[in-house]
Amino acid sequence: MNNNNNILHNLQVLQQRIDNACKKANRNSNEVKLLLATKTVTPDRIKIAIEAGYNLIGENKVQEVKSKFEELKSIHHKTHFIGHLQTNKIKDILKYNVSCIETIDRIELAEKLHQRLLTTQQKLDVFIQVNTSAEESKFGVAPEKTIDFIKQVAALETLQIKGLMTIGLFSSEEEKVRKCFKLLKNIQQEVIQQNIPNIIMQELSMGMSNDVEIAIEEGSTIVRVGTAIFGERMYPDSYYWNEQTKE
Ligand SMILES: *Cc1c(COP(=O)(O)O)cnc(C)c1O
Repeated sequence: MNNNNNILHNLQVLQQRIDNACKKANRNSNEVKLLLATKTVTPDRIKIAIEAGYNLIGENKVQEVKSKFEELKSIHHKTHFIGHLQTNKIKDILKYNVSCIETIDRIELAEKLHQRLLTTQQKLDVFIQVNTSAEESKFGVAPEKTIDFIKQVAALETLQIKGLMTIGLFSSEEEKVRKCFKLLKNIQQEVIQQNIPNIIMQELSMGMSNDVEIAIEEGSTIVRVGTAIFGERMYPDSYYWNEQTKE
């Protein structure tokens, strides 16, 4: 099977997994969007998946958003930023028509983003990244600090909070993974109850190649999948997630 067929085949298999999980959870398949996690994937391969009808992509590095921009701009799609965002890259990322930054996890980042958006009179959708697995190596707001953090971010009127994002624990123990997703769902419910102005708490971005089903059962509205569609990556994920913050 050549590469292109692989991608199309993998998409079918994944869609079936999503459909099955939705059925099991008594949910409608159209409640769960598939975000293509396209780090290290070349534009020609990304295009194959977009043309198959999956038009939401997620990138982890500003440099990759930039380098793929020209080749992808003629094909209708939306880009979410799902990596750790350094404040010195804010100006750059806003040049490439990113529709949502899923990884707001510190007030300094939110405030600098807001300042920049004020100068260009733009608004931007954002998710709050929560560290539900309590692993030191992962980014995200501590669960118990999330409500206060969201109140602070909600006061920045250029930022439209649309939901929460998390990376579940990497573990073969299903219950430990499920706990992360349950926690995110609980925080979402808590935020909704607080009636904080300027918030639309509708999206839960959770679930990756290995835990799509668990995430969907726990209420995910966006699953972010790379490996199961495009194959193994050359770089370990620590290259993307444990990057030192040079600010
Ligand atoms: C790479 C990545 C994914 C996808 O992971 P896979 O295991 O390849 O499906 C999802 N979310 C984030 C934030 C990522 O960096």
